[in-house]
Amino acid sequence: MDSFDFIIVGAGSAGCVLANRLSEDARNSVLLIEAGGTDRNPLFRIPLLAGVAYWYKPSNWAYQTTPQAGLDGRQIKWPRGKVLGGSSTINGMMYMRGTAADYDRWAAAGCTGWSYRDVLPYFRRSEDNPERDGDPYHGTGGPLRVTRARAENPLYTAFLKAADAEGHPRNDDFNGAVQEGLGPYDFNIRDGRRESSATAFLHPVRARPNLAVWTRTQALRVMTDEGRATGLLVRRNGTEQLVMARREIILCGGAINTPQILMVSGIGDPAALQPFGIAPKVAAPQVGRNLQDHLGVYLTYACKDPITLYSLFRPDRAALAFARAALFGTGPAAAVPLEVGGFLRTRRDLSEPDIHITFVPGLSLETTQAGQGQHGYLINFYQLRPESRGTITLASPDPGAKPLIDPAYLAAEADRTCLRDGVRLARGIGESPALQRHKAADLSPQGSDLASDTAIDAWVRRGANTIFHPVGTARMGSDAEAVVDADLRVRGVTGLRVADASVMPNLIGGNTSAPCMMIAEKAADLILGRPAPVT
Ligand SMILES: Cc1cc2nc3c(=O)[nH]c(=O)nc-3n(C[C@H](O)[C@H](O)[C@H](O)COP(=O)(O)OP(=O)(O)OC[C@H]3O[C@@H](n4cnc5c(N)ncnc54)[C@H](O)[C@@H]3O)c2cc1C
Repeated sequence: MDSFDFIIVGAGSAGCVLANRLSEDARNSVLLIEAGGTDRNPLFRIPLLAGVAYWYKPSNWAYQTTPQAGLDGRQIKWPRGKVLGGSSTINGMMYMRGTAADYDRWAAAGCTGWSYRDVLPYFRRSEDNPERDGDPYHGTGGPLRVTRARAENPLYTAFLKAADAEGHPRNDDFNGAVQEGLGPYDFNIRDGRRESSATAFLHPVRARPNLAVWTRTQALRVMTDEGRATGLLVRRNGTEQLVMARREIILCGGAINTPQILMVSGIGDPAALQPFGIAPKVAAPQVGRNLQDHLGVYLTYACKDPITLYSLFRPDRAALAFARAALFGTGPAAAVPLEVGGFLRTRRDLSEPDIHITFVPGLSLETTQAGQGQHGYLINFYQLRPESRGTITLASPDPGAKPLIDPAYLAAEADRTCLRDGVRLARGIGESPALQRHKAADLSPQGSDLASDTAIDAWVRRGANTIFHPVGTARMGSDAEAVVDADLRVRGVTGLRVADASVMPNLIGGNTSAPCMMIAEKAADLILGRPAPVT
């Protein structure tokens, strides 16, 4: 029977980081298992194709939510990467960390050792950001390349000027001293190609003899013996086998799969497990609870000028752009077309931004609104810290079956208010002369959709969609209900930790991939008993 010191479940944003760091010491034998296959596909390399990669079925868990009462009963598609690099191989590559206050709140809520002061060194350790060399908030020489957007489309400039006219501040580093304001973003792009967790952390160390990577291998259950996690039941090449962990198993399966693995292994709310005939081993009622996601809305406009992404929808131009990106890492296909935006407050009395707003010089594939097939642009925003809380629950005891996902979007009044206020703010920028100059027509919302609070709420319910940031389903904390403690150890089981988006007690104000990598960086030090890096 195979056995390793450490077994990591899931080669996503977090799992690849952990595999790299745990195998740095040649004395540690490490197995990284990944349900999906390799990431050798140009689709995952060319940044402009991100919108296609999001939905590419062969490398996707292709989940969807239960009908959402807050969204007129719609079911929302939730793509998640099932491939080396996990969701970082299919995501939008935006590099964002959240704010210092987000992590200070984690620490205040009982996550000792996770204040901003504690986590900043880990963000820096991962990072290779030559353009911000010497900046105390950034790192150089780490595995993960971070590159500033060039934002060459003139509509980006128009958006920023429109926002200036509305009195919104500028910012040139959302991961620096201040998050508030608008400007060009940073991306995980290296020389014009996607930088995923796999390209940054895994591929460069694949040759280490003490690191085994099993793709197309799905973890089915954690095996425990007298309260200790001893091994994993996996399905590999169509057959089930046991693989043993001498020291630890670390779950990095993401905010949907990690709680599912815990539950089918008997770690969860006993009352929820019993109907499926699963014998409860550890009563952990919060497994699968506390689900949070960012919900976004899209204001779309038809554009008078032929300067949008639609220009690339001609075979000759598209071929040229993709050839330039593939061969040289340059041109319009070497960027993700959401290069400018930032963080704003919907009300002056707020102490910090409550929305993340982004401009796209094209009509994105994500929007469900009418108006595709023409020159257009859109303004997208989402609420940073929603109050609604949802659940991941089992639909079946079969580890291969999809669990039920209920994010309970817009259940909280505060969330509805924020989106309503955000629509007015975004609309203000859209109506400002610098953008008006390019506008041919409002696509959505139309004037009547904005006639009253009720009309705005109805428009939001019809069109709002996920921003793909689920977290919180194996919550970290020091209280008795928390699923993992501040060292990421699953309560009630030894030799088992979680290190991925599920441990976040609360969503941070921004995108979630870099925070997951940070969690794994810190997890490696916790597991190996190493001191934190010095800033
Ligand atoms: C379409 C999309 C766009 C996004 N855009 C951005 C963005 O621009 N910027 C940003 O910061 N964030 C973005 N995100 C969010 C971000 O990518 C995720 O929050 C982050 O990647 C989650 O990391 P993770 O390690 O928790 O899980 P994942 O990266 O999802 O990794 C989990 C891995 O575990 C594997 N796995 C799961 N279950 C098992 C099992 N039982 N056995 C074996 N393997 C298993 C999965 O196949 C996967 O590879 C986006 C996400 C998506 C889906």
